[in-house]
Formats: sequence, C-alpha cells, structure tokens
Amino acid sequence: MEQIQLLWQFQQADMEADALESEIKRAPNRLALIKNREFLMEQQSAVKRMEEEVSEMVDRMDVIKDAINRLEEQLSSLQKRVAEAPPASLEQARELSHDAQRMLSGLSSFEQEMRRIQKDAAERDRMEKDIRMKYAKVKMEYDKQKVDYEAEYKEQMKALEEKRRIAQDKTRGIDPSLIERYQIIKQHCTPPVARLIGDQCGGCNMSLPSVTLRNLKAGAQIIECETCGRMIIQM
Ligand SMILES: [Zn+2]
Repeated sequence: MEQIQLLWQFQQADMEADALESEIKRAPNRLALIKNREFLMEQQSAVKRMEEEVSEMVDRMDVIKDAINRLEEQLSSLQKRVAEAPPASLEQARELSHDAQRMLSGLSSFEQEMRRIQKDAAERDRMEKDIRMKYAKVKMEYDKQKVDYEAEYKEQMKALEEKRRIAQDKTRGIDPSLIERYQIIKQHCTPPVARLIGDQCGGCNMSLPSVTLRNLKAGAQIIECETCGRMIIQM
C-alpha cells in the first residue's frame, strides 16, 4: 500500500482514539466528581482560614485582657491614693479626675472591642459548623461517586488503550519522518492530514496556490497547505 493511504488509515485510527479520550474526559460522572472535589477543597481552605482568624482573635483577646487588668490596677491604686491623701487643691483634683476618666474610657473601649471579638468568634464558630456539616454530606457522596467512577474509568481506559494500540499498529510501514511530521502538525492543527478537494485544502477550505497544485500534479504525494500547515494528500 502507498504511504499516503497508510498515513490516512493511521490518522483515522488516531482520531478515533483521540475522540474516545476526549469523551472520557467529558464523561458526566467524571465532571460531577471533579466538581465535588473542587467544592470539598474550597471548604477545607475556608475552614482553615476561619481557624486562623479565630486564633488571631484569641491572641488579641489575651492582649486586651492584660490591658484591662493593667488599667484596673492603675485605677484602684489611684483610688487608694485619693483615699489616703485627698487632693489638696482644685488643680490637683482636676488632674486626678482627668486621669481616672482616661483610664475608665480606656477600659470601656477595650471591653467594647472584647465583646465585638467574642461576637465575631461565635459567628465564625457557627459558620464553621455549618461548613463541616455540608462538607460531610458532600464527602460521603464524593466517596461513593469515586468508587463508582474508578470502575467506570478502568473500563474506559482499557478501551482507550485498545484504540491506541490499533493506531500504533497502523504506523507500521509508514516512513518514521512522516509520522514525526504528523505529530508536529497535530500539536496545532488536527487532524493533521487533509484531502485535496477540488483545488482546496480539505482541512481549512482555502484554495491552494496554482504552483502548489502543479507540484501535486507533477507527482508530489504530499503537499503542505500554506494556510493551516496540514499535509494535503490526493487519494
Ligand atoms: Zn489548510
């Protein structure tokens, strides 16, 4: 058999294998599985983010507790000082009162912040529980899907291997440089071999220049389409 006929038959087998491979990739069970896996991963990172936020909150609460303790100590020592030695002048009384006010307002703003953080932490806790519940539900579904799909996938891969083997067998007798050229063209254009239809490339439908056509008529078996780069054969 002629090279171009062998090449054409190889391409048909190769395209069949490719078609099966993309069908496998698009299988609804596979897509559903991927979707669930992505969902599970998103939830995991959301939980991780929340745990980090909560741990930052806990750290901040420790800082606030210390600050509150310090302010309370300062305040009580101020009260003690006033009780032991009442202010002697109006000026001194004002100063003491000013200090006490400053400490009290500091305390109040720390306490407000503390309550806000506690509320946020409780909210995150609630959200995290919610996520964990949803996660468990999807995980169960996912695990089952995965087992089912693995069996299906194994069958599909067996069929694909068979098609690949058939295609491989069909390379027998073809000049290796032709197969190499085929693979290079395939990277950007598929199928890589097209038939001449009238004076057009059967791949991209562009008319071929008459000089190229003359080469074919003069006996060249394979010419190249200048537009798409395919190998053009005449059968
Ligand atoms: Zn073309």
